Amino acid sequence: MKKSHGPSLKATPIPLKWCPICKGKAVTKRVFHELLCTECHASGWVSAETGEPLPVEILVTQLGLMLNIYQQRIITLERDWPRVSSAADQYSQNNRRGAGGTNYTGD
Ligand SMILES: [Zn+2]
Repeated sequence: MKKSHGPSLKATPIPLKWCPICKGKAVTKRVFHELLCTECHASGWVSAETGEPLPVEILVTQLGLMLNIYQQRIITLERDWPRVSSAADQYSQNNRRGAGGTNYTGD
């Protein structure tokens, strides 16, 4: 990542916080129904520093970056505690059996 020219802001994670209007729910309650929150572009997130909503094109990138970060955390969690995730449970157990036990690949 070079900082030679141009704003590299888009690919840098910006601290986000829950939108104070919709409390991170992306919708606001009205009397009869819920409306998409206009304050945060219906994302539920605003800049943690300014409290202002981010421009949509930056917001999309930020949400993508956050998703990547949390996905990595989940993958790490699943690796360390396979029982945390039921989806990855079988795969991890099979892996464990192969690595810790017979080492037989089954081909
Ligand atoms: Zn909102």
